[in-house]
Amino acid sequence: MERLQKIIAQAGVASRRKAEELITEGRVKVNGKVITELGTKVGGRAEVEVDGVKLEREEHVYYMLYKPTGVVSTVEDDKGRKTVVDLVPPGHRVFPVGRLDYNTSGLLLLTNDGEFSNLLLHPKYKVPKRYIVKIKGVPDYYHVKGLEKGVVLPDGFKTGKARVEMRDVDKKKNTAILEMVIYEGHNRQVRQMVETLGAEVIKLKREQFGFLTLAGLTSGDWRELSKKEVNQLR
Ligand code: URA
Repeated sequence: MERLQKIIAQAGVASRRKAEELITEGRVKVNGKVITELGTKVGGRAEVEVDGVKLEREEHVYYMLYKPTGVVSTVEDDKGRKTVVDLVPPGHRVFPVGRLDYNTSGLLLLTNDGEFSNLLLHPKYKVPKRYIVKIKGVPDYYHVKGLEKGVVLPDGFKTGKARVEMRDVDKKKNTAILEMVIYEGHNRQVRQMVETLGAEVIKLKREQFGFLTLAGLTSGDWRELSKKEVNQLR
């Protein structure tokens, strides 16, 4: 038995708070009956409807994928390109937890648990994401460290605190390697942060998400998260 608002949130229909509103507004039915009392416990086989639409209540799965470049981080692609969902086992309606760009590789979680995904993506939780970035151009060290305090991106977004280290510099080739840890997930954030340095990303890989790393996986591989890992992330 689980609380009704939790079931609605886990189905990815709404946040827990919004689910509570849906219930008190009389928009939720359990086995055909309107339920307005918060905290009502509902069994695994009960039919739950929100605004007349039946919730799909399937078992939750949690995958970690080593996303290769050249794959889109969506469930479907209108241009027919391969998606991250094509790379994990079929049978569950999973979706990626956030996105990695088409040309970015690295650690991406996929799940069918909407609440888990919302939680990890919420800026309030500040999940650290660590990237290794190869860039064209060798910016000034102090300029690079300046990213740690937050910068205004070309699209106007103001980044929060970050950790940025210069790992390697090749003056002859005019390239450098940066290691960056960010706590947000704004669109193309790392690429845009690098652009503020007057440099350009050549290669971008996410090596860590929360405490999870790619250890043991090669590009294109996936594995299921353990129960312990899922609970630690929550
Ligand atoms: N930042 C980016 O710019 N791209 C990604 O894919 C991830 C983080």
